[in-house]
Parts: sequence; C-alpha cells; structure tokens
Amino acid sequence: MNPVLAPAASAPLIRREVAGLPGYDPGADPDEVAALSGSGRVIKLSNNESPFGVSPTVAEAVREAVTSGVSRYPDPMGKRLTEAVGESLDVPADRVVLGNGSENILELLCQAVLDPGDLVVTQAPGFALHETFPRVMGARVHKVPVTAEFGFDADAWRDALAAGPKLVFLANPCNPTGAMLDAGELAQIVAALPESSLLVLDEAYGEFARTNPAYPDGLEALRGLNRPWIVLRTFSKAYGLAGVRVGYGIASDTALVQALDRVRTPYNVNQPAQAAAIAALADRTHLADTVRRTALEIARVADRLREAGLRVVPSSTNFLFIDTGRRSDEVAQALHRAGVIVKAWREPGYETYIRASLSTPGDNDVFVRCLTEICAKDKT
Ligand SMILES: *Cc1c(COP(=O)(O)O)cnc(C)c1O
Repeated sequence: MNPVLAPAASAPLIRREVAGLPGYDPGADPDEVAALSGSGRVIKLSNNESPFGVSPTVAEAVREAVTSGVSRYPDPMGKRLTEAVGESLDVPADRVVLGNGSENILELLCQAVLDPGDLVVTQAPGFALHETFPRVMGARVHKVPVTAEFGFDADAWRDALAAGPKLVFLANPCNPTGAMLDAGELAQIVAALPESSLLVLDEAYGEFARTNPAYPDGLEALRGLNRPWIVLRTFSKAYGLAGVRVGYGIASDTALVQALDRVRTPYNVNQPAQAAAIAALADRTHLADTVRRTALEIARVADRLREAGLRVVPSSTNFLFIDTGRRSDEVAQALHRAGVIVKAWREPGYETYIRASLSTPGDNDVFVRCLTEICAKDKT
C-alpha cells in the first residue's frame, strides 16, 4: 500500500511564482449545473464557443485522421497546416507557428522571451492567461485600463509602453469586453512601441470583427513594421474547433518561429487537430455563415437586454459583456439554477459584469428571459 502523504508534502517544492497564481476559472461545470437546475439540457454560454458547430468536411477529416493516423506521432512541424495557413494569408510557411490552441503560443512566447523581473503590458479587464503565463516566468504585469466607456485610453497606453515592456499582449477585439480597437488606435499603439518590445496581437475573435470596415487586420497593419511582432489566431472560436485545440501565429520573422519551436513540446498539435484545421480553413462558406449568424444574434440579444435596461458593451465578437447592476457571482448562481451557464466577472471594478457568449436563437431567448427576470427582482 502507498504511504499516506500529508496533503501539503510537496508545497516546499513549488516555485513562489506558481504558488501565488490564481487558478484558471473555466466557468461552472455543465454536469453540476444540470444537477442543480434539474434540467436535462444546459445552455452553456461561458466559453465563447460556437453554437453553429463545425463544417461537415471537418468531421470527415477528423474521422479519417482517427482511423488512419492515431497510432503514429503527428507531424511535429505541422507542415501541411502551416502551408495551408501561409497560403491563405500570403505569408511564407516558415513564419507560421502552430499551437495546442493559441493559448499554447502565449505560453511559449513567455518561456522563450521573459526573464524574471521583465515587464509585460496588457489590458484590464482582460484575458487571464495574458497575465498568468508571464507571472509563471516571474515577470511583472502592468494592466492598462480601458476608459469608462470601454474605449482605448491613448495616454495610459503611451505611458505603459514608455516603461519598456519586453512583451505586449494586446487582444483585438478584447476579451471580455468584446470591444475592438480601430485602425487609428492600433496605429497609436504601434507608434508608441519601444524598439525592444515584442507585440503580440491576439486576434482570437478577428473573424467576427473583420466584417466591420473599421477593424484593422493585424497582419496587414504590422506587415511592414521593422520590429518584432506576432499575430495570433485560433480555430477555437469562429471555426468551432475549441475541442481539438489548435491555433496559430504569424511571426514577423523566422527566428521567432524557430525560438518557439525550440521551446515547445515537439508534438504539440495532434494529428486529428491538424487534419481538422486544414479542412476548416478550406470551408470559407461555413466560416462566413457562422460569422453572419453570430452578428445577427449579437445585435438582437444586445438590443433586447438594453431594452430591459441593462448596460451592454458594443461587441465585435461572439459574446457580450453585460452590467447586471448586482454581484455577478449571485447572478451567475441564479442563472445556473435555471440551467444557463455564464461567466461571472471578478476583476476589480467589474464585479457586477457577466460575460455571455451566444448560442442558437432559441437558447438565447431563454438566456434573455432568465437574466431580465433575475435583474428585475429586488431592484433597489
Ligand atoms: C479564446 C481565446 C484564445 C484562444 O484560445 P485557444 O482555444 O487556446 O486557441 C486566445 N486569446 C483570447 C483572448 C481568447 O479569448
């Protein structure tokens, strides 16, 4: 029999930077919410996933990859996928890096670049991993707040960049607010960027924003820039492939890709994921359809919530950031009892906000009805 170790026996081994980290909050567990609500069908709006599924060609490609390929290691360089991505964007394949989700690339960038004490600049409210991964490396993270209207604070960005960050994590559009920077705002950040900084432009929701003519395509905006940058994109959101974990980066130069290649685990993107991404990339119709249906629902749901008196940040994504006017934890709990999962926001200053991604029209109607009922109760 194994000896019984005290629960904290390993504690002295854990690095200080790691012990102090908050855990990632993935939102409530669907099985637990099903049990709590007594509902057989949970409506999950907590992870910005696509309700419109994947292209039928993706399902076929995954079946084929599973049947023929999973006893072998995947292609460690993801050659076919990097070539397909490169071709679709008119960049050489050796400037494309693949990740087990684009989150993986965020992590690799931190490992490759950051020394303890280095400065990283990102946004607040923002994406938790833009802070977590730098902190694992012992870096300091400065978060630039948005304005009261959830807009771009040019002065705050200029000051933050003047401090000389090694890495800048900029999500455009932003998660959790859903707001986007326009071309002029992105240009201001680029102009204020010190020569020694690496700009990481995280375009996880770029496919949704791109229908807006004011949205700057990051790759186009950075192409001619004579300093290091990387644009990150993912198959998890508009392509509907969150479950297989694949994302990619387009880097300013091959040396950056090679550095990330040295850091990453060699087989970081599995074979079904590579096959799925190649098929997804080829089906432009499914992507366009998802983007169009998402935009319609975003507009409709935002209107209905505003009519009910709630503040909703204008969104260029597949999710909404909503001020419930009461503690987000309590609102999320009440929604869970109704079988609806959203993400309660906890960052200072935003504790009354929830983030909810969209589902199909029927599910969204249930969400709107439940949320407006909860928020109408015991109004003060
Ligand atoms: C969802 C998301 C990602 C990427 O997710 P992956 O599934 O790892 O590709 C990256 N950045 C932001 C801001 C996101 O919201």
